[in-house]
Amino acid sequence: VWDNCLSFIQDNITPQAYKTWFEPIRAVKLTDNALSIQVPSKFFYEWLEEHYVKLLKVSLTKELGEHAKLVYVIRMENTYGNRQPFTEKIPSTNRSNKMKSQEVDAPFKNKNPELKNPFVIPGIRNLEIESQLNPNYNFDNFLEGDSNRLARSAGMAVANKPGGTSFNPLLIFGGVGLGKTHLAHAIGVQIKDRYPDKTVLYISAEKFTQQYIESVKKNNRNDFIHFYQVIDVLIVDDIQLLSGKAGTQDVFFHIFNHLHQNGKQVVLTSDKAPVDMQDIEQRLLSRFKWGLSAELQQPGFETRVSIIKNKLYQDGVEMPEDIVEFLANNIKTNIRELEGAIISLIAHSSFNKKEINLELAKKIVDNYVKHTKREVSIDYIQKVVSDYFQMDVDTLQSKTRKRHIVQARQLAMFFAKKLTKASLASIGSQIGKRDHATVLHACKTVDNLSTTDKQFKKYVEDLNKKLTM
Ligand code: ADP
Ligand code: MG
Repeated sequence: VWDNCLSFIQDNITPQAYKTWFEPIRAVKLTDNALSIQVPSKFFYEWLEEHYVKLLKVSLTKELGEHAKLVYVIRMENTYGNRQPFTEKIPSTNRSNKMKSQEVDAPFKNKNPELKNPFVIPGIRNLEIESQLNPNYNFDNFLEGDSNRLARSAGMAVANKPGGTSFNPLLIFGGVGLGKTHLAHAIGVQIKDRYPDKTVLYISAEKFTQQYIESVKKNNRNDFIHFYQVIDVLIVDDIQLLSGKAGTQDVFFHIFNHLHQNGKQVVLTSDKAPVDMQDIEQRLLSRFKWGLSAELQQPGFETRVSIIKNKLYQDGVEMPEDIVEFLANNIKTNIRELEGAIISLIAHSSFNKKEINLELAKKIVDNYVKHTKREVSIDYIQKVVSDYFQMDVDTLQSKTRKRHIVQARQLAMFFAKKLTKASLASIGSQIGKRDHATVLHACKTVDNLSTTDKQFKKYVEDLNKKLTM
């Protein structure tokens, strides 16, 4: 029946409109003279009622006769869960026995102002809530390093035994772009994997707040609470956003208590430690501390390199080692920016059909760290200098008195003095455990040589370019 209606409709509207408004519809049930169709959202339903009611009516009447009825089934909006439609019945074409065009034209949307309550879930027992998890954020691609070891393994423990560890709630906190959202999803994904029957829900605190406000407006706060209380694993991202929102905090407090008392798992993320959270009620803060707070710190150099390599590997892209290290050396505080730099580097090079080289990498990195002005580290200087002279860093630092090695070392010291804020003593200790007098001597020697020795002058210029460009 629906197929016939569709072909009739298709003949009467533009292909674009058909694609947009009719293809997503699913016929779900047919009884006598009533056809139930499932539409993706309330908005969708309203649009159909507003613009296509006549067409629907005509097509349906053609198929089912004068007493044709159309029942809309609105799929739950994603956030509230999915697949389990709550079947608010809208008596749609029930006046069709009087098929006068005026009557047909009159939209019936106002007949049902209280369309539905998004939180009412029929048959709670086999409730299916779309968990809103992103399968691309999993443990396999959440690389381990010193900076995240505790949080990662606590997350694993929770994922293997949700509600069954003392990490309840598990609060993951750390700066922007350090993997909180990724880890939060990974926990959910793994739980879904191991315990498919558990109801897992990932939600950002922002969305939670919006839903709550909406529920108050629509007078169904209790349904809102009820909805959240049937969840087995609740993951709320960026709870610092609840700060200053007393109503939302209050409702969250109730939900939290209910879940916790019933052995359900709660996972939270925040950009600050609980002690630093402001405008969050004390009673909530103290709940947060019941379980485990685990910090995601800035990843060290090694971890940054492996994260970059892993991303490149996942994207099937190759990049020279020195560029990988350059990126890892220069973008330290935010993994998201690190990824962004990789992506734009790849994009630039493929757009302009250029090879990925250090020059391009530098340009791109400057876009990412413009404000902080790239700080050159002493490690980086030693690396660049030893590469330039084709030796390794150990050689550069060694005790040898071979002339070209001594010169390389002196150049490294000279640039460390010039380009970093480190003291002479600190430079000395980092470049092969020398004292401050040695560093001072090195700087003077480089100054002298670069005025008297042409070749040496070129070294200084080349290195300066490499280090500061
Ligand atoms: P946050 O929520 O803390 O701001 P995200 O979870 O959004 O940070 O992480 C930013 C990006 O960095 C994401 O693309 C994520 O996949 C990546 N990322 C973070 N930590 C890791 C890690 N340990 N291994 C691999 N990728 C990571
Ligand atoms: Mg995040």
